[in-house]
Amino acid sequence: MTSTKPETIVLHAGYRADPTTGSVAVPLYQTTSYQFRDTQHAADLFALKELGNIYTRLMNPTNDVLEQRVAALDGGVAAVALGSGQAASTFAILNIAQAGDNIVSSTDLYGGTWNLFANTFKQMGIEVRFADPSDPENFRRLTDDKTRAFYAETLPNPKLQVFPIRDVANIGDELGIPLIVDNTAAPVICKPIDHGASIVMYSTTKFIAGHGTSVGGIVVDSGKFDWEKHAKRFPLLNEPDPSYHGAVWTQAVKPIGPVAYAIKLRCTILRDIGAAASPFNSFQTIQGMETLPLRMERHCENANKVADFLAAHPKVTKVIHPSKQDGESRRRADTYLKGGYGSLMGFELAGGKDAGEKFINALELFYHVANIGDTRSLAIHPATTTHSQLSEEDRKSSGVTDGYVRLSIGIEHIDDILADLTQALDKA
Ligand code: PLP
Repeated sequence: MTSTKPETIVLHAGYRADPTTGSVAVPLYQTTSYQFRDTQHAADLFALKELGNIYTRLMNPTNDVLEQRVAALDGGVAAVALGSGQAASTFAILNIAQAGDNIVSSTDLYGGTWNLFANTFKQMGIEVRFADPSDPENFRRLTDDKTRAFYAETLPNPKLQVFPIRDVANIGDELGIPLIVDNTAAPVICKPIDHGASIVMYSTTKFIAGHGTSVGGIVVDSGKFDWEKHAKRFPLLNEPDPSYHGAVWTQAVKPIGPVAYAIKLRCTILRDIGAAASPFNSFQTIQGMETLPLRMERHCENANKVADFLAAHPKVTKVIHPSKQDGESRRRADTYLKGGYGSLMGFELAGGKDAGEKFINALELFYHVANIGDTRSLAIHPATTTHSQLSEEDRKSSGVTDGYVRLSIGIEHIDDILADLTQALDKA
């Protein structure tokens, strides 16, 4: 039986009882390589005449279950698990862009992605043009015939203004450009493919795994982008690939389905650059993912209560959370987020930087870490940590004021979360 319900998908998609042992839990295949049946079998696997396991840098049966589950959750046709979220965003773009090409990215990005785009991609000859997402038309304005992708995060912190997925995907449809969405902060509550995204990626390190034990990333192919129709824009998928005995990816995978993007990513970028997912981390991520829909419900419920609490607190001048937005930001949040507004939140303290530091140092339940999406509640003072290397002007324009505190609300009992915030605010 196949289901479209997230609660069922995270438990059943891609695996049912190991045929050899009957194991109900997904087995951890902690192996590097796989015995071929005979030379013909080996040759067929390498020639993609038959799909199967060759070497764990390329594929692994434990990783495969995670891939199938995340693909099913997002309504994609295939996924590739990788060693980190950073590997996922890097590979998602390298799969279709090369030196001399450009992509247009939202300005509202995780700092690690910003560095990758502004510096490392630049070194590789891939230009990233940054578009302010408050006007989706900015994406069109920055596009030319060398543009290979649009890129954005669903729910980027610190501003936490939801990205206009449908509007930018529509512009991409007109111009023949796929939209890649980093949905790390909003799994389950947002399904970017339903709103027109062509590729979705995650840092599974965060909500998907949840328990904070395993770094990982994944790229999901919607199978909906017509790479062949836009053959001129995507030579890497439509011209003979010298690194794979002249395969033309859009043609070679036709008998399998609309998975050219995912198969090419696995067979070339992952093969060549590595950054493979560790099967052990995928095993851990599969365990965490089994409760993802339940956790997201509680994360969101707790976050709404924290936002209300903070908004009523005399030392708090501003609460940044979609539940407290109005106008266009709120309209976007209500359009794209279903079942909650996410667990990331910011707030500003009247006492500025000094109060921010005192607040963080007084926390007892919240962990003070540079992370998000853990089952535990987390806090950080960006002005003195994640954003301390930016100029004051850049920091403020990114939304991080001196008294800004970022929270990732966990799934502890709400009474304990509010009690910790209360005592820490008393000391701020
Ligand atoms: N994307 C977002 C939105 C993130 O928050 C992060 C990490 O914080 C990443 C990507 C990178 O993920 P990873 O740390 O798994 O490489």
